[in-house]
Amino acid sequence: MSRQVPVDLKLARAWIGELTTAVASEKDHLTALDAAIGDADHGVNLNRGFTAVTGKLDGPDAPTSPGKLLMLVGRTLISTVGGASGPLYGTAFREMGKSLGDESAVDDAAFVAAVRAGLDGVRRLGAAAEGDKTMVDAYAPALAALEEAVGAGHPLATAVKSAAHAADDGARATVPLQARKGRASYLGARSVGHQDPGATSTALLFAALQRAVEGS
Ligand code: ADP
Ligand code: MG
Repeated sequence: MSRQVPVDLKLARAWIGELTTAVASEKDHLTALDAAIGDADHGVNLNRGFTAVTGKLDGPDAPTSPGKLLMLVGRTLISTVGGASGPLYGTAFREMGKSLGDESAVDDAAFVAAVRAGLDGVRRLGAAAEGDKTMVDAYAPALAALEEAVGAGHPLATAVKSAAHAADDGARATVPLQARKGRASYLGARSVGHQDPGATSTALLFAALQRAVEGS
């Protein structure tokens, strides 16, 4: 169990592959959540983005390091997803990729720093705090769990499992919140009682990471 899992190109590809599959199979659910408090496009938006990503992962220009791969994911999401979530997820992946640099493999601490850089990017762009009923409500507790577990010396597989649970709990905990950012905030008190679509897709992102690490 304490076997080290390198964060390398293979793991990054597995993560994005798992996430692409999850977004495709949860597309209708994400869109239904967005129909309740937004404009019913979140699943469709993300699925378009990750389908475009898949088309760029092979061929002569395929990325050659985990950092380059995540930067490509970020750029592709920015140019294809649209809405609020395209620039936000795009920035998260771009910042993660930038933070990883061009190393062929990084250690757990460098990976955690990259995940933090992703959240910092989302916060800089979207200015959402925890409790505003956005993707930050899943991302921030996932990062905290990841940092705590890696800081305590646990293997990456344990740390990402804990992060995935925290993201899922965070997404569920958006149900009673009133939205203070994004389209859902226009509904005021009527946004209460619904799970935030972006927090839900962020939980998919961390669950995909868990599966990628477990499978490596
Ligand atoms: P749009 O709202 O433009 O239709 P999407 O439906 O794709 O975009 O994404 C909606 C999700 O984006 C919300 O559920 C929320 O989690 C997230 N979101 C919106 N605004 C912000 C923000 N300022 N910061 C962080 N996340 C946000
Ligand atoms: Mg929407």
